[in-house]
Amino acid sequence: MAGRRHTRARCGARTRKGTPCQAMALANGRCRFHGGLSCGPTTEAGKQRSRRNLEKARAALARPEHASTRAAAAKKGWATRRRIQRRLQLARLAAEGDPMALLLLGM
Ligand SMILES: [Zn+2]
Repeated sequence: MAGRRHTRARCGARTRKGTPCQAMALANGRCRFHGGLSCGPTTEAGKQRSRRNLEKARAALARPEHASTRAAAAKKGWATRRRIQRRLQLARLAAEGDPMALLLLGM
């Protein structure tokens, strides 16, 4: 096996698991999943489309049926309810001594 494996910089972004991303970093220091390729919209049309979508998303979130989403977001950052449930389930399993849960939480 060659001695020069794994010498290139890693991405290092925080993953959903909480561990640093191990993917190869591109020129800007992040991998292709964590912003290595995209710098956001560059054309004026693209920037306008992006702003329109942001306004649409904010308007949707402001509707009354999304009150619980807003409450959860305010309480837990922008984690989704599903993610919060998963996290609580994981904590319960870890408290019961589940080896996989302990491993995932790095305990
Ligand atoms: Zn990455």
